[in-house]
Amino acid sequence: MEEGKHFIGNRWTAPSSGETIPVVDPSDGQVFSQIARGTSADIDRAVSAARAAYDGAWGATSAADRGRILARLSMLIAACHEDIAQIEARDTGKPLTQARADAAGIARYFEFYAGAADKLHGETLPYQSGFTVLTIREPHGVTGHIVPWNYPLQIFGRSVGAALAAGNACVVKPAEDACLSLLRIAELAAEAGLPEGALNIVTGYGYEAGAALARHPGIDHISFTGSPMTGAAVTKMAADNHVPVTLELGGKSPQIVFADADFDAALPVLVAAIVQNAGQTCSAGSRVLIERAAYEPLIERLSEAFAALKVGPSRLDLDCGPLISAKQQQRVWDFLSDAQHDGIAMAAHGEVVTEAPEAGFYQAPTLLRDVPRTHRLAREEVFGPVLAVMPFDDEADALKLANDTNYGLVAGIWTRDGARQMRLARRVRSGQVFINNYGAGGGVELPFGGVKHSGHGREKGFEALYGFTTLKTIAIKHG
Ligand code: NAD
Repeated sequence: MEEGKHFIGNRWTAPSSGETIPVVDPSDGQVFSQIARGTSADIDRAVSAARAAYDGAWGATSAADRGRILARLSMLIAACHEDIAQIEARDTGKPLTQARADAAGIARYFEFYAGAADKLHGETLPYQSGFTVLTIREPHGVTGHIVPWNYPLQIFGRSVGAALAAGNACVVKPAEDACLSLLRIAELAAEAGLPEGALNIVTGYGYEAGAALARHPGIDHISFTGSPMTGAAVTKMAADNHVPVTLELGGKSPQIVFADADFDAALPVLVAAIVQNAGQTCSAGSRVLIERAAYEPLIERLSEAFAALKVGPSRLDLDCGPLISAKQQQRVWDFLSDAQHDGIAMAAHGEVVTEAPEAGFYQAPTLLRDVPRTHRLAREEVFGPVLAVMPFDDEADALKLANDTNYGLVAGIWTRDGARQMRLARRVRSGQVFINNYGAGGGVELPFGGVKHSGHGREKGFEALYGFTTLKTIAIKHG
């Protein structure tokens, strides 16, 4: 990896601005590296390189060979697993165990899409006599990928893995707050045999490099993960070129716990779903809704669990690392100060360990109880380790409460009643539903995405391949 450079056409490329952006370690607040500050000129170069690849060597690569290259990439990632996890932990601040899981996750994404590349096909359709009609799934061409800082490896893996498998050439704009691991992956992709220009990474600020990508007329599809506000801005820019956009915009996902649930099974999952990655997870289970009969006993157990949570630098590998940045820390503090101002009770909180450097961006996991249904803590995404707990009266009330936000990404349902499981699973408005488990995002096999302000389009699974292709219908008249 060459510090302060983009990866364009399989080469380390200096930014045309000549400028770099400092990279800060969230665990201690210190600058430890530099990335290139991309501009529209760099995006132009990357899009041209991608177009040349699509019109040239990459476009001519068979589906089976695309799969072979992605399989080699998956194996190379697995071979460098620890190195990649260390980069990710330092850059994002996440505990090493979580970074290792993400490094394993991206290897798995490429493995899955390697196997899927030559299994994507069209259909033949019945039509008038004397005709044969068939559909072909074709790649969009050059796809743009705007990636956030919370799970760089995983989110890159799910979107670029599927896009490449389907035959697109990619231009990626990772987040300015965390992107080093992706530069390493791009280097490995070249080593795996990906032709030059099939995968390009331009680092930089969202308003500069990101916006240049979103409005670029040479882009055929955009996949964006991040905040609803930026997602809407990207959609508007892409609309000027009539470019389709897949959006994954986070949530305020409910975990609905009935009095008949298995609390021993539920408890660790309820805690992990908000503590993982310090709550900076689009599919975090950030609202726990509890049937009134079980409310106090479950709050007591949740409080004990929260009080035992430890927060510290990524290298100590505790329950929780720091937040990504001072900006994100301030955002979480603003929510907590609103909670305090409005008299919302804190049931329990974890502890930031004394070894945590003072300049790191730490926040202890916080359990808030009896959060009023109309309060912003019950409705807005905090993106920090803050869990809002609320009681409900019966199944109808639980459903009303679960659906009462602008979001709809994931829902968890905890009950032993099979009929109730299905009734709620069908009526809750979200892209994924987990019953008696909760899989922040789930595995690569499971299509993932939201409804309402959580976005549209699906990533992961075979479904993502449909999103990264366009359907052509060919009607042949032969008499
Ligand atoms: P963001 O949505 O602004 O950034 C996400 C990505 O978009 C980054 O790569 C960024 O550089 C890029 N971007 C920013 N402005 C852009 C623009 N005008 N045009 C094109 N690309 C642009 O998110 P953020 O500011 O880093 O975080 C703010 C909040 O967003 C967080 O507090 C959290 O609530 C939410 N968020 C959600 C997710 C998720 O996974 N759903 C991820 C990150 C942040």
